[in-house]
Amino acid sequence: MTATSLIIRARGLFDAAGGEHSRGASLWIAGDRIQAVYGAEAPAAAPGVPVLDFPDGTILPGLMDSHVHLTFGTAHRMNGPKSYDYVVEEDSDALMLQRCVRNGYLHLLQSGITTMRDLGARGRTTFDLKEGISAGLFRGFPTVHASGRSITITGGHFYFCGEEADGPEQCRLAVRRLVKEGADFIKVMGSGGGTYITDNRRASFTLEEMRAIVDESHRHGKATTTHSIATESIANAVEAGFDCIEHYEFVELDYTRKFDPAIGARMIERGVWLSPTIQTGYRQMERLRELKEQRPLTPDEEESLKYFTWKQEGQRYVTGRLHEMGARKFLIGTDAIQEFGDYAIGLELIVQAGLSTREALLSATRNCAEAFGILDEVGTLQPGKLADVTIVRGDPIADIAATGNVLQVVKAGYPLPMGALALFPHGPGAVVPPKRPRRPDPQVLRT
Ligand SMILES: [Zn+2]
Repeated sequence: MTATSLIIRARGLFDAAGGEHSRGASLWIAGDRIQAVYGAEAPAAAPGVPVLDFPDGTILPGLMDSHVHLTFGTAHRMNGPKSYDYVVEEDSDALMLQRCVRNGYLHLLQSGITTMRDLGARGRTTFDLKEGISAGLFRGFPTVHASGRSITITGGHFYFCGEEADGPEQCRLAVRRLVKEGADFIKVMGSGGGTYITDNRRASFTLEEMRAIVDESHRHGKATTTHSIATESIANAVEAGFDCIEHYEFVELDYTRKFDPAIGARMIERGVWLSPTIQTGYRQMERLRELKEQRPLTPDEEESLKYFTWKQEGQRYVTGRLHEMGARKFLIGTDAIQEFGDYAIGLELIVQAGLSTREALLSATRNCAEAFGILDEVGTLQPGKLADVTIVRGDPIADIAATGNVLQVVKAGYPLPMGALALFPHGPGAVVPPKRPRRPDPQVLRT
């Protein structure tokens, strides 16, 4: 048996496997694995074993993000109606690949994200990133599960990734091509989204196409997830047997958000993983509110504020309703495309929506590991698992906001040099104006 190589001591520990300590805890690591977990009374360590002490900290399983786009992180350039399209038109794959590395480390060091799932990148960029990680180019880099290009209809959301497919046969071919190149799972764009020319009120693929994608993916042992904003696309995704649904905003043709309890019940019954990306638009809303305290907003800014408030209210309402109905399979995802390293706000918002702090922590750890198919390796603090660990200041069970104060991250037994965050300067923030021409007054309908 490998000798203990590192001991982490803290005031509290949440193992995401039913165990927690609040009056002293320690985690023993041997090589890249967890060796033992103790409460206040741990045995004496052999002399010479390094100890990291966090008297005010809580030890958590490494946090996970169910939804990122590593090739972006370009908030300062995503102003205007063609937000994604400008970035994509201007930037080479080589530049995007460099951003993947920057964004991965930023998310790891600032937010304690040791595993993330990338849901859509152009060309081979995220496959190339994974090759570099496997080749050992970077020490302590987070684990990345990548879909590579997301499958979309001709002219659909993220068409610029380069995987347009129409009709069940092309959909199957797209899945096979992605699996051949190294996709860990399959992501489809089930409705329109932020891409300028798309319509997020409508389903993109037919039910038949969605079924073909699920069937083909499962034949290769790959899980599936779909970006589904429109109500119609959520219904299709559930019927087609998708393993996970992103966003599920229940947007109707008239731009109202109207949660459909019948579809919600089927999502729960079928055991679909729920990735609400609950924080999308929150920072923009917050910045506009702050701005409004300083000066009157322009009509465009007022409209943006209304749009983001509508989006935020809707996200929390839908998640709260599903939770009330018994849903527990939530995943925390940032949809980081604007800024990386801003994660804990999603946990705060999901707690505001109705989850307990423990449920929120499970959604950020164990649930993600299970949804990504890697629960035997990570997601909980148990002997034999990979030593992916995030230590935060304070007690996140008492106050979930503590997850925003990361003291130390350990990736596969390696304690990251936290000061390295300074190597990755943040891009300037931005207030993003509405993505579309004027809409009727947006509303969230309480169903
Ligand atoms: Zn996304």
